[in-house]
Amino acid sequence: MSDMSQGRTNVPVAGSQQPKTVTISGSKGLEFDEPLIFEMGEEGRTGVDINPVEISDSRLGGLTRKENVGLPGLSEPQIVRHYTRLSQKNYGIDSGFYPLGSCTMKHNPRVNEKIARMRGLGDLHPLQPQSTVQGALELIDTLAHWLKTLTNMPAVAMSPAAGAHGELCGMMAIAAAIKARGENRTRVLVPESAHGTNPATAAACGFTVDSIPATAKGRVDIAAFKAKLGPDVAGIMLTNPNTCGLFENDIIEIADAIHEAGGYFYCDGANLNAICGRVRPGDLGIDCMHINLHKTFSTPHGGGGPGAGPTVLSEALAPFAPVPYVIHDGNSFKLVEDVNEADGVPFGRLKGYHGQMGMFTRALAFMMSHGADGLMQASGDAVLNANYLRASLGDILSVSFDGLCMHEVLFDDRFLKDTGVSTLDFAKAMIDEGFHPMTMYFPLVVHGALLMEPTESESKETLDLYIKTVRGLAEKAKAGDAEFFHDAPRHTPRRRLDETAAARNPVLRWKPQ
Ligand SMILES: *Cc1c(COP(=O)(O)O)cnc(C)c1O
Repeated sequence: MSDMSQGRTNVPVAGSQQPKTVTISGSKGLEFDEPLIFEMGEEGRTGVDINPVEISDSRLGGLTRKENVGLPGLSEPQIVRHYTRLSQKNYGIDSGFYPLGSCTMKHNPRVNEKIARMRGLGDLHPLQPQSTVQGALELIDTLAHWLKTLTNMPAVAMSPAAGAHGELCGMMAIAAAIKARGENRTRVLVPESAHGTNPATAAACGFTVDSIPATAKGRVDIAAFKAKLGPDVAGIMLTNPNTCGLFENDIIEIADAIHEAGGYFYCDGANLNAICGRVRPGDLGIDCMHINLHKTFSTPHGGGGPGAGPTVLSEALAPFAPVPYVIHDGNSFKLVEDVNEADGVPFGRLKGYHGQMGMFTRALAFMMSHGADGLMQASGDAVLNANYLRASLGDILSVSFDGLCMHEVLFDDRFLKDTGVSTLDFAKAMIDEGFHPMTMYFPLVVHGALLMEPTESESKETLDLYIKTVRGLAEKAKAGDAEFFHDAPRHTPRRRLDETAAARNPVLRWKPQ
């Protein structure tokens, strides 16, 4: 065995057994026991024959490698099989229900893919002269228009590459606006239910993070929030609907109070799927908000592709938007790329080129194929599905907060009290049942959180099977069968991983023997 295979992180938890090999090959039917690619290679084997290249020291300015890096040698069919088999082990939105709360894992409609692959869009190069990419610039401009319309905001920065990147964009605009006012504000208020990226972004921008407690109803404690306001507060970062799946009822009062104190309101828009087409965040008094195109507007994410986090900005922050952006200049579209030719005082550039063009195309295809009524139906169905889970599981799991939820429903581990089964054990048992687990241990405001987000794209049949499975497992846990849960997952290619060892002793480099 190589170093690498010994360092594999599929170390079983003490007491749990690796599955007994029931076949000679190690594979079971269509489930292949696939080694690491480094364990398969043989030196000198190759998929293509290339004439020997004379290596001279002057190539690459003398940076030529001195040693063999140990890349595995494989034939083309070996490589095709290896990656095909690995792809078959993957669990994705195309293979099953993926109720990962806060992530909006919805179906990626194939019409989006078809349009993104059209030659005039798929084969563009970002360095082409602008006169040859007028259609692409119009596409960016049209998407920007609909994002501004849906949010009722006057400006949008299209280039951020993900939600967290959009947060960076918004907080950098806030920092620039405060600096332009000649003020020094150092503190950012962040509710304790916030996604981890919120305090991380505020800290990355040099602010100190001041946490606001939640009420027993899962909302921002408005009295505690107001008590924290002061002349050093730069702003608040608030998610609405929040990460407990609840609408922040006091949001207008929060917006007014932060503005009165001279701060700005950053809204984390990751949960736009609950309110899209129904509430315009701009009407709630926000100053900036990122929109995760890969969540609300169905573009693939996770292993499926890059994200995109366009960030809408209020009039006060619009002058600080980063370059580049598209303007319509008489008869043609033009990209403003240079801070000196921009109207305001942009803080610079966040990303190479113009942002994630492929995601813009898919998101616009999603919007236009749905239309206004379709987008409203999508958010309505997303909320309906989450409340269906809530109503169907509420009697057996413990619902964290009373009342209807938005597009995700939060449970906690009180229903597992004294069973010896943890949230993690429960999630592992879900994997054996063929479901991607719900989000676990987030948000932090409840103990042992289980956050479920079904999205609008699941059928009633899928939800009913999921409900039946979760109910069955909850009954099993309550009946005292803790061992069953501690031993899960049983039916996966690898058993329970030692996540601590994987984090503490990751094997990141393979050394040829
Ligand atoms: C997903 C998410 C983010 C971060 O977005 P990325 O696109 O993953 O960077 C921020 N806040 C909330 C509430 C989220 O769900």
